[in-house]
Amino acid sequence: MIARVIVDISASDVDKVFDYVAIDGATRGSRVSVPFGNRDIEGYVIALTDTTDVPRDKLKTITSLLDDRPIVSEEFLQLCDFMTERFHLRKIDVFRLFLPSKMRGGRIKALEKTFVYVNPDYAETDPALFIKKSAHAQMEVFEYVSDVGCADQSYLNANFSAAAVRNLIAHGVFLTRQENVFRTPYKNIVQRDSGVMLTEEQESAAKTIMDSDRPTLLFGVTGSGKTEVYLNCIEKTLQAGKTAIMLVPEISLTPQVMRIFRSRFGDDVALLHSGLGDGERFDEWRRLLTGRARVAVGARSAIFAPLTDVGLIVIDEEHDTSYISESNPRYITREVAFFRANYNNAKLVMGSATPSIESYHAACCGKYTLSRLPNRINKREMPDIKIVNMCKETTYGNSGMFSAPLIEALDECMKAGNQAILFLNRRGYSSFVMCKKCGYVAKCDDCDVSLVYHKDEDILKCHYCQRRYAMLDLCPNCKSPHIKQGFMGTERIVEQVNKMFPKARVIRMDNDTTRTKDAHLKLLGDFASGNADILVGTQMVAKGHDFPNVTLVGIIDADMSLHFSDFRAVERTFQLITQVAGRAGREQKAGSVILQTYTPNHYVYRFATAYDYEGFYQKEINLLQATAFPPFSEILRVLISCENENFALEATKQAFDEVREIADKSPETFIYLNAMRAPKNRIQSKYRMQILMRIKPESDAIRTAVYKVADKVIENFPQVTCFTEINPNDLS
Ligand code: ADP
Ligand code: ZN
Ligand code: ZN
Repeated sequence: MIARVIVDISASDVDKVFDYVAIDGATRGSRVSVPFGNRDIEGYVIALTDTTDVPRDKLKTITSLLDDRPIVSEEFLQLCDFMTERFHLRKIDVFRLFLPSKMRGGRIKALEKTFVYVNPDYAETDPALFIKKSAHAQMEVFEYVSDVGCADQSYLNANFSAAAVRNLIAHGVFLTRQENVFRTPYKNIVQRDSGVMLTEEQESAAKTIMDSDRPTLLFGVTGSGKTEVYLNCIEKTLQAGKTAIMLVPEISLTPQVMRIFRSRFGDDVALLHSGLGDGERFDEWRRLLTGRARVAVGARSAIFAPLTDVGLIVIDEEHDTSYISESNPRYITREVAFFRANYNNAKLVMGSATPSIESYHAACCGKYTLSRLPNRINKREMPDIKIVNMCKETTYGNSGMFSAPLIEALDECMKAGNQAILFLNRRGYSSFVMCKKCGYVAKCDDCDVSLVYHKDEDILKCHYCQRRYAMLDLCPNCKSPHIKQGFMGTERIVEQVNKMFPKARVIRMDNDTTRTKDAHLKLLGDFASGNADILVGTQMVAKGHDFPNVTLVGIIDADMSLHFSDFRAVERTFQLITQVAGRAGREQKAGSVILQTYTPNHYVYRFATAYDYEGFYQKEINLLQATAFPPFSEILRVLISCENENFALEATKQAFDEVREIADKSPETFIYLNAMRAPKNRIQSKYRMQILMRIKPESDAIRTAVYKVADKVIENFPQVTCFTEINPNDLS
């Protein structure tokens, strides 16, 4: 038998399958060790056949099986085919998504412990007959183990005499057995909570989801109780003997959320998030694989939870950008979820207070079932959003980042003992350093982007390559000492708040303060438990959190995401405002929102302050239709980069010629096609060029042909990097 094996090497760009002589037990989906060059490496068997083109004397044999069962199921093998074709990925990169990373290469193992118990032959006998009277230590540990039935040997060694334990094992009085133990995060939360009584609206939403034979879009305003609807559907799924996957944006995996799941489903739930240690992640994954846990809760990658017989997939906050993977392997989580739902005949629900225009459009066309929760729980009002025109503030002589109405509202909020969130919209925005005299802007030598000033370290950083530079004293261009920092970052907001409200306790939450494991959980936990009065943060504070004492939300500079080079810029702005506003007034206390903007007349603010999603949707969908952007087209981008500018140019030219040939043959499919330098022309010393096209939706053959062009680039220009993207979030 010949086994076709995908080998796990990262250096190569070739996505090749190698043939080996199979060994006993090797089957489709087995993880194996195979000889490769002069060493052994890991691989996955994707097929067994009778024939091979490899000459007999060249053919090597699989060295060993790495697991006691095939680790990649039939479903995942088919998913791999789907993903490689759809997203233009290498098979090995897809396989890597299927396993915890540290498991590859055997860098992590199951934790095994030795348990000690009394040999049944000795259990009913008087211990005085086989333990010497003088051996007090042996008697002591014997009595303990008899009492508890079974004990961890390392515990016995630490608390009794290790020699006595050894002795009793040697004499056959104690027997031992090896057992896997699972490192389970948040294990101490055990009490089962039976949940709340669903409202009529929630009840009917849950029924719609479970009855629908199409995916359901759950459109429920912030605070409408979507989580309880999901929990109810998960319960029903488990009762039917099936398993469930619940996806949330990474940032929403707060201690509160995990506590809810743990207390509702106990050991039945496995939690997968980036804060887990490698051991914990591996064990949670194995609990899912072996059926010990039947519910997977996690961020994007939890869609690859190794569950069988999936009955329900939930995508919470479905509009969230984190569901699109923007680095290799690039994939769209929703499409993977569709595949798994189809394969398992499972229910799929996508929930949001601000559905993506694309999803709402699909619901309007009848592709999805639409279910609504138009009211907050207990009919609490949506917070009032007040627009402040910052241009007027400047005219009145206030050039700071805080308008008079915001300062006043903060003051009231603090006096009343409530909490506030200050939100800084940082998408596509950086606090650059500029010479006030000649206009020189500090940029990274390797990347074509402005450097960002970090006050706490007093240095300049490139956010693309992490390179660090000394802060400027004098302008390198004109030697002027008048160096100005551009826009304001979260640090400067905190500084200002501290000045205005010296007594207020402030927490800052952004990429810098949440770099370490568990950091964001800790910060959010501190805020939730009332250890701080004001939370200052970027996009991270906008999502899903439920803080009952927050009565004020300040949006410092709402416009920032509007000026981003992205066809979804306005949509993102609408979503951000609605989401961050939704953090205010969720409990008994009413909330309010102050939105500061330099373009108060933009239509996005009119719809957002009126909470008019439908109105906004109508306006946007008409625009998208008129300009033929998704969902009325699919954006395809081929990005080519190289340290050598000429190679990049040459490769781009060649690829562009070939794509144009494809376009000439099917002009009706191509809405737009052009080649150009990427907006960020240079990143990490590499020049970046792109071929940008918009094609009619569902033009699979054309897309595949374009992928082939990209493959050829890689083959013909080994120096260049080339990848493709579908509807990327970020076109920079
Ligand atoms: P959403 O995700 O829609 O923004 P949540 O699921 O966070 O809303 O629910 C908002 C609040 O309402 C939470 O504090 C939740 O515990 C509470 N809640 C949800 N459903 C009910 C219910 N049926 N009865 C009482 N409280 C509920
Ligand atoms: Zn200057
Ligand atoms: Zn750089």
